[in-house]
Amino acid sequence: MLDKVLIANRGEIALRILRACKELGIRTVAVHSKADRELMHVRLADEAVCIGPASSAQSYLNIPALISAAEVTDASAIHPGYGFLSENANFAEQVERSGFVFIGPRAETIRLMGDKVSAIEAMKQAGVPTVPGSDGPLPEDNDEAVLATARRIGYPVIIKAAAGGGGRGMRVVHSEAHLLSSISVTRSEANAAFGDGTVYMEKFLEKPRHVEVQVLADGQGNAIHLYDRDCSLQRRHQKVLEEAPAPHIDPEARARVLKACTDACIEINYRGAGTFEFLYEDGQFFFIEMNTRVQVEHPVTEMVTGVDIVKEQLRIASGMPLTIRQEDVKLNGHAFECRINAEDSRTFMPSPGKVTLFHAPGGLGVRMDSHLYTGYTVPPHYDSLIGKLITWGENRDVALNRMRNALDELLVEGIKSNIDLQKDLVRDSNFQEGGVNIHYLEKKLGG
Ligand code: ADP
Repeated sequence: MLDKVLIANRGEIALRILRACKELGIRTVAVHSKADRELMHVRLADEAVCIGPASSAQSYLNIPALISAAEVTDASAIHPGYGFLSENANFAEQVERSGFVFIGPRAETIRLMGDKVSAIEAMKQAGVPTVPGSDGPLPEDNDEAVLATARRIGYPVIIKAAAGGGGRGMRVVHSEAHLLSSISVTRSEANAAFGDGTVYMEKFLEKPRHVEVQVLADGQGNAIHLYDRDCSLQRRHQKVLEEAPAPHIDPEARARVLKACTDACIEINYRGAGTFEFLYEDGQFFFIEMNTRVQVEHPVTEMVTGVDIVKEQLRIASGMPLTIRQEDVKLNGHAFECRINAEDSRTFMPSPGKVTLFHAPGGLGVRMDSHLYTGYTVPPHYDSLIGKLITWGENRDVALNRMRNALDELLVEGIKSNIDLQKDLVRDSNFQEGGVNIHYLEKKLGG
């Protein structure tokens, strides 16, 4: 087993990783910016190193600072969490070149999956169903071919940056008149944002759900899935409320897609935890991208499978083969996760500041993953996620009802939060039925 892990992240996920390390008897190094001295995991870690000023570019994204912190503390491995450098292949490569274990897939896998065009190609070859599309990048110098591709796919289409992420670098086109100009705008935006102007085209699905599959693989020929999650409640392509398993899914289509995901892991010799993201419409799954890291919403899967995903990441990174077999993974009950953000429930304006009172709910089947405590000041420099409230129940109704009660118990005072929005969502009659599509939340908010 690894003996000391450097946690290259902050907030709730840094605390989540610290907890998993402690359970496995692994010592921990917290790295933090000058604005983050008071973070809960910094207080709890065996060692703490300040790696730079508040700005992420100079701290959590500063590769040389992170590697020197690992050197001075003599850590054996680096856990990147999610966001920041977690899907940066150059970081993974430099970590390993410097003699540390990167807790995640090999750099070449991150690179393959980080480019959506090559990811889709690899998935197709592995037998994973994909969205009908351009089958590769759009040519820059052949308008006729591009127009013909869109006609073949049929409007509306979506133009996507191969290097895109975080919901950026996408544009929907409804008619031929706007196609070429939309492509050129997306291309320049992608160039500016990601330093890569490669774009491709997909059929724009009008009422899909976002359903994703969690996998674990050891890079030694073993791969399992931990079933699926539904993350259709999104605002600006950002997930708000998630659940596992996805409700009302065609059982045959589900069985096929789960098998295709584990087959694909073996095919690309995947190592670590990962998520295959799909759009699900009319009983069919269409692959959109793979995330090569732990995801924010991983706890809902942990609650229904009993598998600790972060502990498994640490075991795999230690070189241990997977000990859980597919037939050991049993779905038990249902779980929801409400993301709690420091932002106004109606305007979504971020609301950093001092938390004058924090009270977490409790009881059977209630889990709060949060770094908050009374007196903590939420800094203005980072993502507004301040916690995740997760509930489990023996069925979907029990879990959802538990979430309603838990949200009523949760208190965050001194700053604004989206708790009222979440209270509203868990009482929404369509959400209660299950299976709303990815446009549902924005429509609800708009009207
Ligand atoms: P990112 O890497 O930026 O998260 P994704 O490819 O995962 O981008 O897409 C993000 C979201 O955009 C999806 O969850 C879905 O809401 C929407 N989306 C992406 N592709 C399509 C498509 N072909 N049709 C309809 N919606 C899409």
